[in-house]
Amino acid sequence: MNSNQSGTLYIVATPIGNLGDMVPRAVEILQSVTAIACEDTRHSKKLLDHFAIDKPLFAYHDHSDKKSSDNIIARLSSGNDIALISDAGTPLISDPGYRLVRAARQQGIAVIPVPGACAAIAALSVAGLPTDRFRFIGFLPAKTTQRKKVLQELAAVPETMVFYEAPHRILETLRDSLEIFGGEHSGFMAREVSKTFETYLHGTLAELVTAVEADSNQQRGEIVLVLAGRESSDSSVTVDGEKILRLLLGELPAAKAAALTAKITGGDKKQFYQMALALKN
Ligand code: SAM
Repeated sequence: MNSNQSGTLYIVATPIGNLGDMVPRAVEILQSVTAIACEDTRHSKKLLDHFAIDKPLFAYHDHSDKKSSDNIIARLSSGNDIALISDAGTPLISDPGYRLVRAARQQGIAVIPVPGACAAIAALSVAGLPTDRFRFIGFLPAKTTQRKKVLQELAAVPETMVFYEAPHRILETLRDSLEIFGGEHSGFMAREVSKTFETYLHGTLAELVTAVEADSNQQRGEIVLVLAGRESSDSSVTVDGEKILRLLLGELPAAKAAALTAKITGGDKKQFYQMALALKN
C-alpha cells in the first residue's frame, strides 16, 4: 500500500554504452523528480548534462550508512519523487539499490521501474543459447579457488548461465570454465555491447579460450559471459543411446539391439525399439 502523500521512488535504467539507448521516458522522469540518487555523481553528471537534465544529484550505495537511506525515505515520505540510477544499465542488477527499494517497500512507498538497457539481457538476447530459463550469476569471485568452487557448484545447472566479468579476469575465468565444464561446452562472450568496438564470440569453451588468448583486445572493455547449461540427462541419454543403437543394429536384430541399448543407457526399451525401426527404414 502506498500512502497518498508519499512521493515515488523511480528505478531508472540508463544506457550501457550508446547514449541513443536512453529511453525517452527515462529522460522525462529524471527531469520531473526532485533529486537523483546515483553511484558516482561526477559520472552521472555527464549523462544528465547530455540530456539537459538539471537536477540535484547525490551518491547512494547499499553500503552507505543507514542515515543516507533514512534520509531518502524521509524525503520520499514527505512527498518528493526521487530517482535512482546507476553508472550504467539497470540499477540493482549487480549495482546498488536493493536495500533502498526494500526500505521504500517496507514504508509503503511506491517504487516504479523505468526499464531500459541491461547488459545481461542484451547479451542473452544474441547468444543463441536457450533463453526459456536462465540463471543470472553476476560477478564470480575474484580469487581462483573460490571462483572454481562456484563454477563447480554450477556444473550441474541445467539452464543457461549469465556472468559479468572484468576484462583482466576473463581469460582465467574462461580457462577455469573449460576445466570444469569441458572444452566442448558451448559459451558466448559479448564485449562492449552497443559501443564502438562491440564483439561477440560464440563457440565451445576451447574455441573461446583460443580466441581470447590470440587477441588481447578480447581482454579489454566490458564483458558478459554466457554459458550453456548442462545438457538434460534425457537428451544426453538419447544422443548416446542413438549412437549405441546404430552400432548394435549393425550386428543384431532390432528388438535385441533396442533391449541392449536400453540396458546400457538406462533408457526406455520401447522408445529404442521404435527408434531402431525408424533407423532401419
Ligand atoms: N547494472 C548493469 C546492467 O544492467 O547491465 C551492470 C552493472 S555491473 C557493475 C557492470 C558489468 O556489467 C560490467 O563489468 C560488465 O560485465 C557488464 N556490462 C556493462 N556494460 C556492458 C557492455 N556495454 N558490454 C558488455 N558488458 C557490459
